[in-house]
Parts: sequence; C-alpha cells; structure tokens
Amino acid sequence: MALFAVLYSASTIASASSPVIYSINVNSSNPLLAKVKIDTSTLPDITMLASRTMRNNIQPELICQRAGLPDRSIDFGSSISCDSVVWTLNFQKEAIEGVDASLQNNIYSPADGWHLLTEWNSLPRIKGMNNVQVCINSDNPQCQKLPSISSPPLFMVWGMAGKELNVDGVPVHVMTNQKQLLQQDSTWLPILSNQISYIKSVFNVDKMEPWSLVWLKREVSSGSIGGAAGNQIYIANVATENGRLISKSYQHLLKISAHESIHFLSSISAPVWADESLAEYYAIKSLSKTVYSLPDPIESWQRMAVKFPHGGTNLYEASRFVTEEQNYEYYGLFYTKGPAFWAELDKQLHLKGDSLTYHLSELKTEWEVNLPPQFVDAMIKKIGAKDWARIESKYL
Ligand SMILES: [Zn+2]
Repeated sequence: MALFAVLYSASTIASASSPVIYSINVNSSNPLLAKVKIDTSTLPDITMLASRTMRNNIQPELICQRAGLPDRSIDFGSSISCDSVVWTLNFQKEAIEGVDASLQNNIYSPADGWHLLTEWNSLPRIKGMNNVQVCINSDNPQCQKLPSISSPPLFMVWGMAGKELNVDGVPVHVMTNQKQLLQQDSTWLPILSNQISYIKSVFNVDKMEPWSLVWLKREVSSGSIGGAAGNQIYIANVATENGRLISKSYQHLLKISAHESIHFLSSISAPVWADESLAEYYAIKSLSKTVYSLPDPIESWQRMAVKFPHGGTNLYEASRFVTEEQNYEYYGLFYTKGPAFWAELDKQLHLKGDSLTYHLSELKTEWEVNLPPQFVDAMIKKIGAKDWARIESKYL
C-alpha cells in the first residue's frame, strides 16, 4: 500500500501539465557567465541526465540545493532529492572576426550586448521530464520549449537587433548583428521569400510554424563562413570585410539560409553525406535565375577537384571516414563533390524528361550510407544502367 502511494504521487507529479522551468540569469557583473536554476521542490526525487553534446563531452557541474543542508554536487544518472538544481553556463566572447555559426558555441558580444545560447554541453535534462521551458530573465524575458532529443537543438538569442518579417506567408523573426541588412531588406527579402517557396514545393512542406533566423557577421578573411540549424531557428554567417557587407555577402547569406532552411523543412532523414549534399544542391538551385545565382556545381567541382583535400575519395567512403572515424577532413566533400553528384544525376534525369525532385520521396526511408535500393532502381530505370554506373563510379 505504501509503495502504491509513492508511485501514485510520483506519477501525478510527472503528468502534471505545468512545465519545469530552467530559469537563466546572466551575471550582471560578468555577462560571460549565467546561472541556470530549476525549482525541483515539488519533485520527490530526480535523476539528471547529461546534456546533448557536440565535439566534446564536457558537462556542467550540477549543484543540489536543499534548505538547511550544505550544497552537494549531483552525479548524472543517480537519483537525488533537491529543492533546486543550479549550474553555471559559460559564454565565449564574440571574436573580432565574428562568430563561426557552424561551431554552435555559447557566445556573448561585449560590443553589442547580445547572447547566443545553444543547448550543446549546456542543458542537462531531468529524466522523464519532457515538458521543459528554458526562460531567459533579461530586459525582454523569453521562454522556449526544450526540444526532444530527437529534434534539432535549442538555440536562443537575446539582446540582438531584429525585425518581424513575412517570408512566403510565414512569420519569421530575423535577428542580426549586421545592421545594414535590416536597413536594406528589399535587397534580399523578395529573393529569400522565393527561395523558401521553392524549397517548400521541392520538399513537399505544407505547413510551417513561425521560425527565427539569426545572421551573424563573419570576416571573409577568417576562411569559414557557415551556418547551423536549430529547433525552429537557424544561424547563418554573413560574409563581411571590416564589418561591412561585400558584393558576395548576399549570395553567401541567401545560399546558407536556404541550406539551413532545407535542414529545417525537409523530412528526409538521410546519412550526413546525403543530408548535407542535398541541402547544398537545392540551396544552389534556389538561387538559379536570380541575380545571386551560383556556378553549376558540376563545373565548380571539376575546377576544384584536383587540389581539393581527398578529392579522389568518393562519397560513400568519405561518409564512413566521417561517421566511423570522426575524420572531418572528408567533410568538405559533402558540400562540393556531393552537390556535383546530385547535379549530374538531375541533369541526366532532365534529359529523360524527369527530375530529381520527383524522386526525393524514394529517399524517405531508413538508410545508412549507400543510397536506398528503391532509389537506385528508379534511377537505373530512368537514365539507364550505363549512365548510372558512370555517375556511381565518378562520385559514390
Ligand atoms: Zn548543413
């Protein structure tokens, strides 16, 4: 009977509709630090699980606070009872050359006063608690749901200039630290709207929820201009020189924005080589017939193949190096040789009055590295075994 009572009370609490709040306060004297506090006083006992991680396994040190007792540290995976759980978040200073969006680090800008928080290595979870709100207590308080671990990560930005836009009928909150972009939205907004509309039709997206996009300036001289997709938010770098837009800025920005939008909108769950190369291929396509159109991926690859690191390695093999050996020297092939593969395949399909777009649904299945047999069969049927074999040996 006693056991039943305990179980009953635990399940009542777990199913209660009120969310668990991760309350975040930036340290007023050192904005590179913030404190996260969870009120766990209504939970009989909790088990903390490690945060999702990227690049390393570093976790915050969690502290259990209880009235009248000294603070004690919490071990992940073991049950404990606390009035509250607290830990410290660290932010890196925005570098002079800007933030590399693809690294997805926690960043604070001393110059502009904004923060970027990413879930990676920062937000441990309470076992069994799926209803979690992460709340920033700033001048403009905001809360976001902590996404499930099968969803893209949580990114939150506060203190950055922004505006509400309508992109192809969808409310989009644009934030940027490159002020010219907000002043000159007629230069890119109509094109971005068309790109999103094109991507929605290619990837068969019928409904879109509001989302945010964050454009962070990044000096071209840094050599890395990237992006990252989060949960209903993505980050893209804007190429700058001494903080100013250059002629290539819009082209880069719109291409990366389309690439990240595809990650966000596509429901194809493909291995990383195909996921990245498809996003890149359709991002390039989304800009064709605009003033920002990019060179044909087949020609681009032909030009760079000879001197490209591991240019002779095909995509399946590169994929294994990356996923099995974490050898990221091969990663660049997914954005260069990968789009050339899709472009060449699509070109052959077009010669037969067909299109890759009509076959994307054949990729909506579970697959590891090699393209799914149903997709390969469909390609052979359309373009013929000889052309398929040629493309396969050239790229795959
Ligand atoms: Zn990507």
